[in-house]
Amino acid sequence: IAWTKDGGWHDAEVVPYGPIPMDPASSVLHYGQEIFEGLKAYRHADGSIVAFRPEENARRLNESARRLALPELPVELFVRAVHELVEVDADWVPSGADQSLYLRPFMIADESFLGVRAAHRARFMIIASPAGAYFTGGVKPVSIWLSSELARAGHGGTGAAKCGGNYASSLLPTNIAAANGCAQVLFTDSATEDTIDELGGMNLFLVRADGTLITPALNGNILDGITRKSLIRLAGDRGHAVEERAVTVSEWRDGVADGSIVEAFACGTAAVITPIARLKGEAGTIVDFGEAAPGALTMSLREELTGIQFGVREDPHGWLDVIVPA
Ligand code: PMP
Repeated sequence: IAWTKDGGWHDAEVVPYGPIPMDPASSVLHYGQEIFEGLKAYRHADGSIVAFRPEENARRLNESARRLALPELPVELFVRAVHELVEVDADWVPSGADQSLYLRPFMIADESFLGVRAAHRARFMIIASPAGAYFTGGVKPVSIWLSSELARAGHGGTGAAKCGGNYASSLLPTNIAAANGCAQVLFTDSATEDTIDELGGMNLFLVRADGTLITPALNGNILDGITRKSLIRLAGDRGHAVEERAVTVSEWRDGVADGSIVEAFACGTAAVITPIARLKGEAGTIVDFGEAAPGALTMSLREELTGIQFGVREDPHGWLDVIVPA
């Protein structure tokens, strides 16, 4: 779908996957005026195809659009675009365990203009790609790396937006994490260095021995994760207290040492929930759950949310958007 400042949104089309023409002076290539989303469509045993909370992605896309000075896209248009693409690609929605059709909506500024200002032209597109199971051979707890020097976002920056620039700044720390045997990098608040923000591509939860869940509050630096939001709801339904507040690395470390924090997990669309085995950093291992990972609550919340997505559990909150009926 194309957008122009004078004409609004127009010219929607579904086309076969392939290269797109791009002027070398397009704003997105120079100033990173770009935002994206990620969601999945699932095929249920009865043959129906559903998407998980697509209107939440539409809402978040518009929050990102405001921060990046891009045009907002009406929620109905976003959801309709998801439907039309999935309908065309229905045969590509896999049916195996943990398989899905990954959708990558994104918006780029494509005015050909070398000055630094918000572009007057943009394009919204969605790519669809079948996705296999994130974990093969069972869910494995991962090690994560505390990035002490390199930040992902700072106060007043674009941390809460889902824009390419945030991911560009997380690539080097992610390489460092990988070189240290870690699957993801943990970012802290650039000003305090101890207050936890999120992982490179996931939100973080800690679980206390009394069943309370703790997760960093939406502080303007972190993404308002849809998996995070869904898990807060499901945990609340079960009677767990959920604290959304500032959380520090020291609180995590001390809580594991004195037995008051018993589990940690990361969450996001791609892996749903990833149990965390340990947190490492420049000074060595900071937290180690050892044999205790993955924890019981981590795995049971994972089972519940994936059960809703794959249609083997009830969907009490109406999170599934039916695209192709049974
Ligand atoms: N934080 C970041 C930086 C992410 O890239 C993602 C993945 N979109 C998340 C959190 C989790 O968000 P969601 O649950 O909506 O996938």
